[in-house]
Amino acid sequence: MVSVSVALFVSNLTGFAPARAWIAGWGGLPDVPFAADFSGNGRTDMVAYDPRGEGSLHLLPTKDGFKPADGLQILGNFGGNCQAIAVGSPGPEKPPIVVGLFGGNTIHFAVKSGAYPLKINNAWATLPRKIGNPVMSITTNRVFVFSAKDGSGFSIDPSTTKAEAVKLPANTVWLGDAGTNLVGKDTRGTIFWIDPNTLQRKGDLGKESTGSRPSAMPGLVVFGDQAWTPTKMIALESDGLPKADVARAVGRSGKFGRPIVYEWRYGSERGTGSLVQLRRGIIEEDAQLKEDDPESDAYNRCSGNDGLLDGWKKYGYRGLDLKALGCKPGQADVICLISRFDDVKQETIDAGVKRITSFYADLKCKNANGTTGINFHPVLLDPIKGDDAKNAWWVNRGKFLPDKWRGLVHWMQVTPGGGGQANELADGGTCGQNALWAVFVHEFGHQLGLNHEGFSPGYASPIYTSLMNYTYSYRFEDSLENVHYSDGSFSSLNLRENDLDETMAFSYDKLKFLEKGPYNFPVKKDGEKTLVDWNRNGIFGEKHVKSSITYAYSIGGGTRDDLGRSRTKTAPWLFEHQGRAFLLYGNNDLPKDDKIDPTLSPERPGRLILRRMDQPTKWEPETTIDSGGLTGDPVAVSYNGKILAAYQTSSGVVGRWISVGKNDTQMSSPFVLDADKTLVPTIAVYVNRAYVFLTNPATSKVTYRLIEKNVLTKDVKSFDFLSSNPVGLCLDTKNGEAILALAQDQDKGKTNRWQYRRFVAATDGTLTQTKGPVWVEGETGGSRGTGRMIALFDATKDAGPNGRVIIIAKGLTNATTPWSCCYMAHEIADPKFHGGWLVKRYYDEWTCSRSAPAATWFKGEILYSYRWVDGGQGETDNMLHVAYRGTGLQEQMLTDFDDVSYVRNFGLANSIPVLGNP
Ligand SMILES: [Zn+2]
Repeated sequence: MVSVSVALFVSNLTGFAPARAWIAGWGGLPDVPFAADFSGNGRTDMVAYDPRGEGSLHLLPTKDGFKPADGLQILGNFGGNCQAIAVGSPGPEKPPIVVGLFGGNTIHFAVKSGAYPLKINNAWATLPRKIGNPVMSITTNRVFVFSAKDGSGFSIDPSTTKAEAVKLPANTVWLGDAGTNLVGKDTRGTIFWIDPNTLQRKGDLGKESTGSRPSAMPGLVVFGDQAWTPTKMIALESDGLPKADVARAVGRSGKFGRPIVYEWRYGSERGTGSLVQLRRGIIEEDAQLKEDDPESDAYNRCSGNDGLLDGWKKYGYRGLDLKALGCKPGQADVICLISRFDDVKQETIDAGVKRITSFYADLKCKNANGTTGINFHPVLLDPIKGDDAKNAWWVNRGKFLPDKWRGLVHWMQVTPGGGGQANELADGGTCGQNALWAVFVHEFGHQLGLNHEGFSPGYASPIYTSLMNYTYSYRFEDSLENVHYSDGSFSSLNLRENDLDETMAFSYDKLKFLEKGPYNFPVKKDGEKTLVDWNRNGIFGEKHVKSSITYAYSIGGGTRDDLGRSRTKTAPWLFEHQGRAFLLYGNNDLPKDDKIDPTLSPERPGRLILRRMDQPTKWEPETTIDSGGLTGDPVAVSYNGKILAAYQTSSGVVGRWISVGKNDTQMSSPFVLDADKTLVPTIAVYVNRAYVFLTNPATSKVTYRLIEKNVLTKDVKSFDFLSSNPVGLCLDTKNGEAILALAQDQDKGKTNRWQYRRFVAATDGTLTQTKGPVWVEGETGGSRGTGRMIALFDATKDAGPNGRVIIIAKGLTNATTPWSCCYMAHEIADPKFHGGWLVKRYYDEWTCSRSAPAATWFKGEILYSYRWVDGGQGETDNMLHVAYRGTGLQEQMLTDFDDVSYVRNFGLANSIPVLGNP
């Protein structure tokens, strides 16, 4: 029942309190927002119509006027393709109705009848003709449907559903009921009066942006930055947020019928851009109401903009004594219940909480009462023990965060170990006790709305110095003590890894952190500016630099194309031939057996498959080169106008010539390269000869055969050094030398250490070493792995005047650890940094392979391919993945973000928007 004290007209209004955060992202586009009191409890709730699909109406009830309660759908299947919609009461004391126009002339109607959902009448009214560009409005005892163009349409009496032709002013895009007059808004943003009898325009009231929507009820029109009442205009206090279009809906709240205004922002800024705010009317009764009366506006304000009402902070709420905790109006407070696992020591919590409290107190953000920082108030709960320790953290949140305090407090559990998890812009999470304060403020940062990227489109921006960024979670300037929330200092910078500028318009003092870990970029002061050698080629101040500057954890390769769910049971091999990219790999149809490695072998042979790329993500169908004799990882090279492939079979290592035409593929018979079928072939072209290297996995001895023109020469040559891994060769296009990637055992703990050596070819093709070994990360480094090595030479300007060597290979695998991540290592100009090398993981720790990866230069990028292992020989095991940006350069922009302001001005209030049940 609507309280009888509600006046027909708004008459007790003297002003409006400042807008306060109500909820973020509720009822935003494409929804159409309204306000109505469907529950009939005297408090107008937010309502939103979602026009998608079959159309549905959603309600966000208010709890005692303090905050929203959990939302619910109150109407489904209102109809598809709704052309216009209105929700509201056709007069004071009347329950709200929903009307929508469908098919130009059919009006669907819904009203509450008992419990939800609302009851629909799909044939409530049919108009005599169809209305184009329709606008709908509910006013006292009338429903209007009219054309926004010429104003012609109909007025329907809701009690009889009889339609009467009407003509409203042309270009009216919105119509409201101000009481004695109707009020409209036109296409130019002018708000104007309309005579309720003649429906003629009567004079202007004001203006607002064309993308905004006003709201009216008898005695009140709210638009732009003001509100009209019969006695005076009221200025609406600015919310201090960036300019944005706003849709409004007015209503009443509480026993005095206090006018309220919901405001949906359509801003472009993160967070508050989609904020819904509430403006409460200040009414004559407020002067008499005691401050501790929850109906008093003073009680209901949120001058801390932290989601905790001033009245709660002064007088407590639902059994929580906020004042005793230290909460005060006008300052930012946040309360967190902390449940420690019983095997986490109380002292650990106490020390952590102390540090967490000072971390938030020290934030440089301002409060309305003149103080700075955020006041963090911990409430320590009883330890979690027994079976509860096995629960998912959100199950424990449901158990230990009392529902009556939902919307007032956050909750975090503290477990043994490290790491953590939390929901974003929400009230729960878990964190480990190791480096507790740092992990806590990271996970709590998620609760307060922050993500790992600082909302950069790209990943792991080196100038987003926040502890939310994995790059700086535990270390900043090489110390845990320096980790922090970012203040957005570098938000004006937009970095792109494929087009970097090495001159930065920031002082050396601001940027010198880049000299420290994890990147240790070379940085130089340049007057007011700073030079950063992003590509680490030893040259400072270059422009249009391409360099991965986000590899601290890993590099990606862009899209992981699975070539239509193709499978490989060998290492894939990539190469270029006649300007096209090709893949070579092997597969068989043997059933999976969890106890057996599915990789092709003499016991489990398979077919050899060739595949040509049409364009990225488009590959021609598989061509079978050998239908069943393949027993190991195949390789191939473009040589003398044909493809020369080499692979293991049960009768030895064989070679094969392949010609790929437009529509067909021809191949020679296999010819034996070596009768020893255990030798692993790799292949390359150097100074007009094709070299087939044969690495003996048992002895680490490497021999090689030469092919000149189309002839396999007789000699079997060998190196005077060993390689534990199949070798890889490429050409240094700067000085003409050959670069051979290999691996050697240094000692027991350092087997399979990566290195390269340089060679020139004698007239008979014999390779003579000119330099080496050059160990990856230096002789004392640790880079190593098993499986075939790939060497690539980078001659771009980013590689410096002499170019640089890139080695791509898999990490260490053996019988007990049969798969590993794959890596790219490349040289840099500074020999003192990790022996002059950077080593980067591909993708992440879950992207592992049983086989070596493949890579080749192709049109200025590195094509990269690997064989996915899913760990359990399931659906995705042995999936063949190809990435088209193997250099790891992200195309997405990288920048900085002001965590502190975001948390202070948005996250605090909007992470706890919804009140639970008392
Ligand atoms: Zn995180």
